[in-house]
Amino acid sequence: MPGSLAEELKRILALQKAKGARYAWLSPQNAQAFFFSAPQLNMQRPPMAQPPMAQPPMQRPPMQQRPITPPPSPQPPPNQPPAPLEIKAATPAASLDWEQLSEAIHSCKACPLYAGKRNYVMDDGFRQARVMFIGEGPGEDEDKQGVPFVGRAGQLLTRMILAMGLDRTARDAERGCYIANIVKCRPPGNRNPEPEEGTACLPYLHRQIELVKPEAIILLGAVPLNFLMNRRGITSARGKWLEYKGIPVMPTFHPAYLLRFERNREQFIAEKRKVWSDLQQVMVRLGLKQPPRQN
Ligand code: URA
Repeated sequence: MPGSLAEELKRILALQKAKGARYAWLSPQNAQAFFFSAPQLNMQRPPMAQPPMAQPPMQRPPMQQRPITPPPSPQPPPNQPPAPLEIKAATPAASLDWEQLSEAIHSCKACPLYAGKRNYVMDDGFRQARVMFIGEGPGEDEDKQGVPFVGRAGQLLTRMILAMGLDRTARDAERGCYIANIVKCRPPGNRNPEPEEGTACLPYLHRQIELVKPEAIILLGAVPLNFLMNRRGITSARGKWLEYKGIPVMPTFHPAYLLRFERNREQFIAEKRKVWSDLQQVMVRLGLKQPPRQN
């Protein structure tokens, strides 16, 4: 048998994956060997070459070293496609209250994104806020924590919100704000949501807007501009008021876009200024006061 038990398991699983299997049955001993002995396993990558001496001496009890029997089949026979994902129409959201909406979102299978997510990411902030921010969808950090905008882009957004005299942790109408996304499940690799994914998720956002009744909506980037307003071209749309069901909407750049210029100070400042001027328009319209500068 080449290499360790874990490597042999890796080889068998990779073979089955190549045949289309999505699940594999592992005996308790094999599962233990697999999960505790091969933390570096990634079936997308070629197996890592390990110098024989680099391996610590094996300390498993003897029964784990029994020859591996090929797993019996709860998997489809060879050449059969993997079982299709269960896709269910989104719960009609138009009349749901907060609790029902949350329940509907947290059990949604209306698009394939649910299958790859760790957590549904519904919202953050004050649910009767005057200002609502809408982003694209959860990234890795948001998926881990179940909260929107908590990664690097989120930290920048949090600072922008503070600069507007608001606070995402406040739970009052004067300082609070509400944050949501177009999709509630993380698109793999942080790609943009596909049209059918955004469309499937949109009824939830529509209901969130209806329930919050914000006085202004700030769209962060091209994705919410596209899905909520059916418009393209954030560069030309930003800074110009739009309207969604009577609510003023201000499109601006996504904070992740700003972060792309972080290493180019001049351009970073130039792009941030554009966003700041868009946010200031919202502040003027709603009479928000900039907080006193802190030294
Ligand atoms: N980007 C988004 O658009 N939304 C998040 O929640 C995080 C990053």
